[in-house]
Amino acid sequence: EAVIRTENLSKNYGKLKAVDGISLNIRKGEIYGFLGLNGAGKTTTIRMLLGLVGPSSGNAFMNGQKINAGDTSIWRDVGYLVEVPYSYPDLTVRENLDIIRRLRFINDLKSIDRVIELLSLGDYSDVIAKNLSLGNAQRLGLAKALIHNPDILLLDEPANGLDPAGIVEVRELLKDLSFNRGVTIFISSHILGEISKLVTRIGIIHEGRLQYESSLEEMENLRKTCLQVKAADINGAKKILEKSGFVPELTNENTLEIASREAISRPDMVARLLVDSGFPPSMLYVQEEDLEAFFLRVIKMKGGAE
Ligand code: ATP
Repeated sequence: EAVIRTENLSKNYGKLKAVDGISLNIRKGEIYGFLGLNGAGKTTTIRMLLGLVGPSSGNAFMNGQKINAGDTSIWRDVGYLVEVPYSYPDLTVRENLDIIRRLRFINDLKSIDRVIELLSLGDYSDVIAKNLSLGNAQRLGLAKALIHNPDILLLDEPANGLDPAGIVEVRELLKDLSFNRGVTIFISSHILGEISKLVTRIGIIHEGRLQYESSLEEMENLRKTCLQVKAADINGAKKILEKSGFVPELTNENTLEIASREAISRPDMVARLLVDSGFPPSMLYVQEEDLEAFFLRVIKMKGGAE
């Protein structure tokens, strides 16, 4: 049963197809990375999931409930963080959280301390929002998104402004929410390197279309481009490999590169072949395509996800 589901979701602004026939199926506890360049249609998709804008065609469902523009009842179950979270600038962190608590009709005052602790905002609870660093303003945004213990989290570029330690901390927090509390997380970004350390599945959106979708594991496999082999007798090793049907290329660095899936997936087999033939390898290395290069290659592909 999908927690977040869309069917051919589309949004046109005049002639522009901002979101163009996107179908998503995101299960409970998944962390789904929604990746795209600026203007790809990520925010528009999130706004449709929240019922903030109505689709031109297609449907969106969360927890099985159809989303209708203007109907905010789904917000009870959802926490969301937009790119630059708004806070009341002249109120403290605690006061900001208290406003959200009241808006959400939460009676439990401890809910504020709970999210302050969760987001490590203890030292800043009495700081007024406009004096917060960008990273701590982001943490306050996340605290507001989590105050009602939502089971769905929609995060639009949440790493904005966080320093490396903050990124790691927020990543661990999100993993904990998904693995240990079953929270379903939908997270948008334009940096694959950043979300690949967090997500279980990834979708790449380009010019409004879902261009690619896979599990993280499948993506990692696709990124493996060749097996590099070094040996003391490189020409001898090359001949042996060729005899076994491989097509090794000798590079300027005196390294053999084999691009076949068979070699990439079984470097141990290649090693045994070379050892048994008397040309033991001095190095075996599976070369991987850089994450951002992979991302750019995918968005240049023609056609959609299917
Ligand atoms: P970013 O990372 O820059 O926020 P994004 O992937 O979230 O990008 P969207 O904000 O969804 O992209 O925008 C998708 C396209 O739709 C863009 O070309 C944008 O200019 C256009 N667009 C978005 N909202 C509107 C609007 N209200 N009216 C007209 N065009 C819009």
